[in-house]
Amino acid sequence: MAQEYDLVILGGGTGGYVAAIRASQLGLKTAIVEKGKLGGTCLHKGCIPSKALLRSAEVFATTKHSEDFGVITSDVSVDFSMVQARKNKIIDQLHKGVQHLMKQGKIDVYEGLGRILGPSIFSPMPGTISVEMNNGEENEMLIPKNVIVATGSRPRTLPGLEIDGEYVMSSDEALQLEALPSSIIIVGGGVIGIEWASMLSDFGVEVTVIEYADRIIPTEDKEISKEMQRLMKKKGIKLVTSAKVLSDTIVRDNGVSISAEVKGTVKEFKAEKLLVSVGRQANTEGIGIDNTEIQVEKGFIVTNKFFQTKESHIYAIGDVIGGLQLAHVASHEGIVAVEHIAGKDPSPFDYNLVSRCIYSNPEVSSVGITEDQAKEKGHKVKTGKFSFRAIGKALVFGESDGFVKIIADEKTNDILGVHMIGPHVTDMITEAGLAMVLDATPWEIAHTIHPHPTLSEAIGEAALAVDGKAIHS
Ligand SMILES: Cc1cc2nc3c(=O)[nH]c(=O)nc-3n(C[C@H](O)[C@H](O)[C@H](O)COP(=O)(O)OP(=O)(O)OC[C@H]3O[C@@H](n4cnc5c(N)ncnc54)[C@H](O)[C@@H]3O)c2cc1C
Repeated sequence: MAQEYDLVILGGGTGGYVAAIRASQLGLKTAIVEKGKLGGTCLHKGCIPSKALLRSAEVFATTKHSEDFGVITSDVSVDFSMVQARKNKIIDQLHKGVQHLMKQGKIDVYEGLGRILGPSIFSPMPGTISVEMNNGEENEMLIPKNVIVATGSRPRTLPGLEIDGEYVMSSDEALQLEALPSSIIIVGGGVIGIEWASMLSDFGVEVTVIEYADRIIPTEDKEISKEMQRLMKKKGIKLVTSAKVLSDTIVRDNGVSISAEVKGTVKEFKAEKLLVSVGRQANTEGIGIDNTEIQVEKGFIVTNKFFQTKESHIYAIGDVIGGLQLAHVASHEGIVAVEHIAGKDPSPFDYNLVSRCIYSNPEVSSVGITEDQAKEKGHKVKTGKFSFRAIGKALVFGESDGFVKIIADEKTNDILGVHMIGPHVTDMITEAGLAMVLDATPWEIAHTIHPHPTLSEAIGEAALAVDGKAIHS
């Protein structure tokens, strides 16, 4: 029998399930259709499992150097099955939490593959959802007033580097590794590639990163990339930039070997495994888009600022619309879409104010634009930079590499961007984000008293440094 809803959400990832909770708070009768597990990529194949592994790697790396803290240990080793078990336990706990939230919000969850139908006996407009149930029962038919497509994304690969799960992996397979390889080639030095490089290196794996651009994490401020490059090399990671993988050269035989053209010269690289981290592809196929007027450009669903597609009652959010493919972006887009559906007149999303984080060791975080982007936009900029080397808490932690950099407009004093590399900077970027939301100036950040001793003092000092007034430099 067909069920009627105010809203049906296709995909129960971070975007979809958060949208469902907001819809339930606003009194909309809501259902989610999820073919896999609630929580989606972030919970099962992305943010959470990767950060759990990173944390184990960090503990191992710190313990190996415990003598620096006067703590004597012997025979420190990794039991990777226990590392994986810890990761899985965290995922299970959070998964149960999301399931509970669905029950609490009286949100119906259909476990199956959803597909948008065209005009039918159920509705003259496209948008009826047919669900092929995972349990093999007869298809469910859902008749919603509104739909949100939140079907997410999957790993992309390069021609010739087909994922076989044994020698060549995407992050999906790498997260399931049963044992650590002795060596790995990572193709792609962006966010995911650098997190894996850092983690595997901390676990003692020999890592080579091959990056097409002339620097790793190329979307970050140049000074951040440069510092990251220095610190990754210090860990022993081999970084090969300006390198184009020649994909027809791959050999899979007791390991992997590939060739890459590096600044005009062909070089060969060998390792036990290869991880491809060259971006993510939106899940737009097989969901019934052809039955609608929804536009897809360059593989992503096109929406307006309230996330409506060409079919105004069908919205799309999260990785499937491209842009910043981040969990907190997906969930906030979901909230804006739902509030628009409920007639709440939400403010459109300002992507310039989204904080971006890399959870490598050391961490990177940023909000706003880079120095180069600011100059390209015609700003006359002034910058303030402060190193963690002069921060007492960083020395106490034994992690004093890195810095905070603030970019401001010379005339207006507007903060244009804040960039950090160093200890716990992913937990500190929100101060900079809030400052930008509130249109604060560097002076206002500097006069927000930063307690001593904390890592956040580096932000206060960098804000003072914008006008050449840092105290401890
Ligand atoms: C290794 C890795 C690490 C990451 N780390 C971070 C991080 O630290 N911080 C961060 O912000 N982001 C991180 N991300 C990105 C983050 O995971 C995504 O941006 C986020 O999951 C996007 O949410 P979403 O809801 O759009 O899509 P998804 O989480 O991909 O959810 C989509 C859901 O839709 C379901 N689905 C698809 N098609 C259908 C269908 N036809 N019917 C029913 N269900 C369907 C899928 O099964 C899936 O559960 C990481 C990603 C990866 C791969």
